Amino acid sequence: MELCTTVTAIRELVTAWKKAGLRIAVVPTMGYLHEGHLSLMRIARQNADRVVTTIFVNPTQFGPTEDLEKYPRDLKRDQQLCEEVGVDAIFHPVPAEMYAPDFSTWVTEGSLSQTLCGAFRPIHFRGVCTVCLKLFNITLADVAVFGRKDAQQALVIERMVRDLNIPIQIIQAPLVREADGLALSSRNKYLAAEERTRALALSRGLRAAQAKFDAGERNAQALKDAVLAELTPAADSIDYVDVMARATLRPIETVDQPALLAIAAYIGKTRLIDNLFLD
Ligand code: AMP
Repeated sequence: MELCTTVTAIRELVTAWKKAGLRIAVVPTMGYLHEGHLSLMRIARQNADRVVTTIFVNPTQFGPTEDLEKYPRDLKRDQQLCEEVGVDAIFHPVPAEMYAPDFSTWVTEGSLSQTLCGAFRPIHFRGVCTVCLKLFNITLADVAVFGRKDAQQALVIERMVRDLNIPIQIIQAPLVREADGLALSSRNKYLAAEERTRALALSRGLRAAQAKFDAGERNAQALKDAVLAELTPAADSIDYVDVMARATLRPIETVDQPALLAIAAYIGKTRLIDNLFLD
């Protein structure tokens, strides 16, 4: 497995693969890898001849008061895990390699990115779209794998790819959870033991909503109430609990189309997200 820290180095590698007619998959991550990330890499492995994992804590997707500085990092461990799942190359640039001092070109998706997390993190999806397009261009990937843990992100990237005719296939991968239901996240490291227990309210709330949905409930407020009954006593604050049409990420009152029940809430100082696809 190669570790490339410059655009020139990864480009040399992927260009050679392209010349040999090989299909390349990219899995963009911010590192501090866990089983959720590894599941994406395994899917990438099944869909391409070569797999590139990018590990880059992208500064442009963090707001001024967010956790950019303290975001967990452990490259040694990440390298080992990538090796174990059969990744061919890691691209791990420093911010200056990605952003020139006079960097001035941005990708802004103007619809799906405006609700849910976009309403609370105004520059987040501009940073995500911009860095993903750069990573697609740098790695010359034919396919990219994104997790449904970040359901809005996956939909925004799909929209960007469609709208800008980017020659890449996007695969959405299932959300991976701990045995007790907690959605795997690098940010779970921030949780003290007592907070981790409270964090289970997110997935417990979603399970309660799923049970109601399976029993025939189609009223969005009733499904949100099932989540809130669990979440309100456990969370320090709640950004949103919303039922959205997956096609538009706009709120719906009745679940009569593919929908997304999405949560963002603070447990202590840690902002956690989780979601459920309603079909
Ligand atoms: P991150 O490193 O948090 O930016 O995540 C990188 C990629 O891994 C994104 O496509 C995420 O959606 C995906 N991912 C993170 N956590 C999970 C999870 N628990 N299950 C599935 N995919 C995940």
